[in-house]
Amino acid sequence: MQIKKNSVVSFHYTLNDGDGKLLDTSAGKDAFAYIQGGGMIVAGLEEEMEGRKVGDNLQVKVEAAKGYGEVDPGLLQRVPADKFGDQKVEEGMQFQTPDHRVWSVMEVKDGEVVLNGNHPLAGVILHFSVEITDVREATPDELSHGHVHGAGGHHH
Ligand code: ZN
Repeated sequence: MQIKKNSVVSFHYTLNDGDGKLLDTSAGKDAFAYIQGGGMIVAGLEEEMEGRKVGDNLQVKVEAAKGYGEVDPGLLQRVPADKFGDQKVEEGMQFQTPDHRVWSVMEVKDGEVVLNGNHPLAGVILHFSVEITDVREATPDELSHGHVHGAGGHHH
């Protein structure tokens, strides 16, 4: 069957940035499984999956706007280090705010902490190499839960 809205799609992938640097891969793991049309994968890849079938191999280039978004300068913030109280703050640490945004500490300097709330892949052009390994209809349970059950998905 062809991939359409509410198909459960399993695929193996390798993700590189524009310089060929490896960002992520499913190699050695279960194929990644998602529900087509649910916004569970980046928009630019989901669009390319529509109408494909098992065994298809795709090379997909996704611009940042249809990937993890452009870098938002408003999400680069300087905070006085004393706002963190006794908590140790070091470059590379991550914090989550109540709005679920994850902030990375870019730098600690001169009593200030530089935080970046952008997704680590914001502004990055994504190059996916994809092999589709399974396509099936989603079950009513999967549609009501909004995620895939079984291999590559949730086990509960
Ligand atoms: Zn579930």
